[in-house]
Amino acid sequence: IVRMEKVNKHFGNLHVLKDIDLEVMPGEVVVIIGASGSGKSTLIRCINGLEEFQSGHIDVDGNELTPYGKSGKALQRIRTEVGMVFQQFNLFPHLSVRDNVTLAPMKVRGWNQEDAVETAERLLQRVGIADQSEKYPTQLSGGQQQRVALARALAMEPRLMLFDEPTSALDPEMIGEVLDAMRELAREGMTMIIVTHEMGFAREVADRVIYVHKGEIAEVAPPEKIFDSPHDERTRSFLSRVL
Ligand code: ATP
Ligand code: MG
Repeated sequence: IVRMEKVNKHFGNLHVLKDIDLEVMPGEVVVIIGASGSGKSTLIRCINGLEEFQSGHIDVDGNELTPYGKSGKALQRIRTEVGMVFQQFNLFPHLSVRDNVTLAPMKVRGWNQEDAVETAERLLQRVGIADQSEKYPTQLSGGQQQRVALARALAMEPRLMLFDEPTSALDPEMIGEVLDAMRELAREGMTMIIVTHEMGFAREVADRVIYVHKGEIAEVAPPEKIFDSPHDERTRSFLSRVL
């Protein structure tokens, strides 16, 4: 569903992504790990066109992103097909939980209010916060807000979900509830690309783990392989610092 070929990205003089080749199959869960500043966020932000790149190709479900952001319609289609959950929840503060979830399906997909609300209630139930739908984001805990963000992304019926450190801004006791919701989604067969520092979670849900080092994919392997016997010295050194 995703194919990246020789993708290069620079921020001024800084070469942030170096010849990134990556293919993700439908239903696959891919976890990206790596040190701070290695390019993990930039990599996944390229996939839904939040960052431009300067050379290479990215294909998302048949829509091709081209260098320098000249992708027009393809970019629009990708934006409606790809859901994203960020470290900061980015909810609309002036909207209730329910309205946060119904807004995009009504505006972008043209759903009527009744259908959008019904879907929102079902999704909020699924992430365990059906009783909070009248509240506003500031009235919720971080873990609840992040589950609203997840429900909001799912309301667009995405073909692919991107997560950029979805639990990094949460208090420890709230991390579990967000990971549980993501685990459930993985079980249901959602295609997911996840940047995380939660190595236990990565080991459990990932089909493949990608280790990014200074803008390069240094190693790609199933979790048991990468955590128990990484072949790359840089992966080994990184894991010895974080595990
Ligand atoms: P972290 O784990 O801290 O989130 P990361 O692996 O996600 O790090 P990126 O955010 O992708 O790293 O950043 C990769 C490199 O690009 C870093 O050196 C960063 O300083 C730089 N960078 C990121 N965004 C910009 C920007 N908008 N302008 C200039 N440089 C940037
Ligand atoms: Mg990042």
